[in-house]
Amino acid sequence: MTEYVIIGDGISGSSAAETLREEDPDGNITVITDEGEPLYNRILIKEHAKGKLPEAPISIHDEQWYEDRDIDLSLSTHVTTVDVDGKVVVTHEGEQIPYDKLLVATGGTPTQLPVANSDADGVRHFWTFEDARRIREAAENAEQAAIVGAGLLGIDFAAVCGAQGVSGKYLMRGDRWWRYALSEDGAEIMHEGMREKGVEPVFDSGVDRFEVDDDGHVTAAIDPNGDRYECDWAGVAIGLTFNTEYLHGTGIEEENGILVDEYMQTNLEDIYAAGDITRFHDVLLGERAQNGSWGSAKEQGRVAAVNMAADDEAEVFEWVSSYSITHFDFPFLSFGHPTLGDDHAERKYSDTEWRRIAFKDGKVVGGVLIGDLSPQSTLKQLMRDGRVVADQKEVLLQPEIDLDDLASPPQEQ
Ligand SMILES: Cc1cc2nc3c(=O)[nH]c(=O)nc-3n(C[C@H](O)[C@H](O)[C@H](O)COP(=O)(O)OP(=O)(O)OC[C@H]3O[C@@H](n4cnc5c(N)ncnc54)[C@H](O)[C@@H]3O)c2cc1C
Repeated sequence: MTEYVIIGDGISGSSAAETLREEDPDGNITVITDEGEPLYNRILIKEHAKGKLPEAPISIHDEQWYEDRDIDLSLSTHVTTVDVDGKVVVTHEGEQIPYDKLLVATGGTPTQLPVANSDADGVRHFWTFEDARRIREAAENAEQAAIVGAGLLGIDFAAVCGAQGVSGKYLMRGDRWWRYALSEDGAEIMHEGMREKGVEPVFDSGVDRFEVDDDGHVTAAIDPNGDRYECDWAGVAIGLTFNTEYLHGTGIEEENGILVDEYMQTNLEDIYAAGDITRFHDVLLGERAQNGSWGSAKEQGRVAAVNMAADDEAEVFEWVSSYSITHFDFPFLSFGHPTLGDDHAERKYSDTEWRRIAFKDGKVVGGVLIGDLSPQSTLKQLMRDGRVVADQKEVLLQPEIDLDDLASPPQEQ
């Protein structure tokens, strides 16, 4: 009987456990998480912090779910080391759990700002349900907040401010939000959405240090220009530090994440990785890539489990990820790898509609749609097909993309 051990009960670990049980009805499956609760919907915790959603619908699995599938779940258990020669996982309580096949699905932890007082009371990071509960409490009792981190997670803090009636200052480096994927035209739509929610974007800013009161609670963020922004709490979302400390010394290949191939295999025998933590070989892109999104993490967990159970390279991970933002009156969707590629096309259609498509070697590799999401399935399909279309930007920028207008791909000889 095969012993499967999964470290992490986020969506990638949990989806792997579910698939393993389907693929190997007799195997022993152990899931270990250092959180105190089983899988919940990380995407929805922001709605809880906004005060719009109670706790119950955010939970996905209760402990019974694991029992019903004969999966051994260890809550509040931190893995401290892995002995790859002895094939044993060691927990903070010194328990030794043997494995035949191991899945690393431990994601990341929000990176702390390397500035004075960044660990002060009232400086919040956003990753767990517990974080969301505390952010909600802080926001309900606050008048003003400072936010730093001009990316997909930072904007959730802005939305919390908007929903909770907190006046927010969103301190950004550079001249716009998510400057790696959006031009001024696209970003301005997002800035206007923030302003309508009572959150003011502040450009060429950031945080140089936080000020605290006598109790050690944050009172202000000081930006590099010396400008002072008073705040009752601050939200920091400047990126993730991947949870790999327990793997140090094992020889696992890391490069800002765990390196895996398209089968989710690491360089170490019988050790796989899935979810945010991976830098995987993206078969559509033809190079290594990273996806910090729910759907991708779920699919990576499933594919890893299929290959673990088969003890073979049975299935390749091939996926176009998407990430949507629903805080504003207009929808927003990023798909694939909008910050990569060697060419792009973009157009503004109205005050709330904008599109950007990224290409690599003439093929679609990602994009951002604001306002009108209707082209998403066509663009994702073109990405999956790997069709060379960068020479036909005008067709792809039409409000409605008509594939019949695209020149046919050259016939294979
Ligand atoms: C506020 C917020 C909003 C988001 N919104 C969206 C969205 O709109 N759309 C979207 O696609 N994605 C969104 N995401 C991202 C998405 O939630 C993640 O990409 C996804 O949850 C990653 O899943 P994972 O299983 O790889 O990692 P995680 O969910 O991070 O799970 C890893 C688990 O491993 C545990 N762990 C870590 N180290 C150890 C250890 N040593 N021992 C035991 N356990 C350990 C962690 O505590 C954690 O429970 C959002 C994320 C956040 C925080």
